[in-house]
Amino acid sequence: MTSVDRLQDIEAIIARAARDCGRDPAGVTLVCVAKTFPAADVIPLLEAGHRVFGENRVQEARAKWGPLRAVYPGVELHLIGPLQSNKAREAVATFDVIETVDRPKIAQALAAEMASLDKRPRLLAQVNTGAEPQKAGVAPRDADAFIALCRERYGLNIAGLMCVPPAHQQASPHFALLADIAARNGLSELSMGMSSDYELAIQQGATCVRIGSAIMGERDYSTR
Ligand SMILES: *Cc1c(COP(=O)(O)O)cnc(C)c1O
Repeated sequence: MTSVDRLQDIEAIIARAARDCGRDPAGVTLVCVAKTFPAADVIPLLEAGHRVFGENRVQEARAKWGPLRAVYPGVELHLIGPLQSNKAREAVATFDVIETVDRPKIAQALAAEMASLDKRPRLLAQVNTGAEPQKAGVAPRDADAFIALCRERYGLNIAGLMCVPPAHQQASPHFALLADIAARNGLSELSMGMSSDYELAIQQGATCVRIGSAIMGERDYSTR
């Protein structure tokens, strides 16, 4: 099976999962996570017509996607990894969606660079639903205040929320928590669900699923 075969299978599973719970399949975007994979591995998916991709590192994304965008118009690139404020400018320049806004310093840096570059990527706030000390994301109890701060102090429109549930735990309570926080803040986008749990995420309202290994195969971090 090729990555294109797997992509097409997953698109069909997504559509079925959406319909099974009374949702329009068009309301679920498949973000193909290409981190660690070279451009050569992404090209077949672009040739097959897929356009929405995720990367977790700014530098890697810039190097890979600058040349690819020149050949394949209409790419929508999502930043799904942690962002340092000294990379905010490159992130705004490189990405169409930044899913990992999670602290005031980043919000401030993004606001400044968005104004300076006159470019407005769509923004999601990452919530650390498991309150894991080593993991990025705003704490669930601080999420409402953070979203308000983004709007009021920095003029940033947060369009939705993203989470990465703790490994080795049931994802469902984390998806439910994320959906709750979004609902009470009037946010419509929910980026949740990965290779192992995207059908469940769709049942719980995901509008974006981020799928890497189930399409691309196993990642090899040793060459990074
Ligand atoms: C790597 C990554 C994914 C994709 O994970 P798979 O299990 O390979 O589908 C999704 N979201 C984030 C934030 C990631 O870093």
